[in-house]
Amino acid sequence: MPTCAHCGRKWSWKQSLNRMFTLSQEIQCPHCHRNQFFSKKTRTINAVLNMFIVSPLAINIFFDLTPWMLLGMIVGIFLVLVVIFPFYLELDKEDRPLW
Ligand SMILES: [Zn+2]
Repeated sequence: MPTCAHCGRKWSWKQSLNRMFTLSQEIQCPHCHRNQFFSKKTRTINAVLNMFIVSPLAINIFFDLTPWMLLGMIVGIFLVLVVIFPFYLELDKEDRPLW
């Protein structure tokens, strides 16, 4: 579970998940209310794992999947990624460039 970059307190799984669905780059700590950012490592892992969401489309090239099977696989992979997100989430005080 992530630890606040400012106050050092641990976030719960639910608190981490609530902060996942934001369009802003800044994430507010539920304890000290100071803003922080996803770490470079977290953004890299996110970019790689998000490619798995569309992987059923590539699988569909080799196997004749029905649209419902495709949709089910995409939704299933998305849900797995949402559930594991708080476990690899790391926070940083600064918004560092990815490269
Ligand atoms: Zn904090």
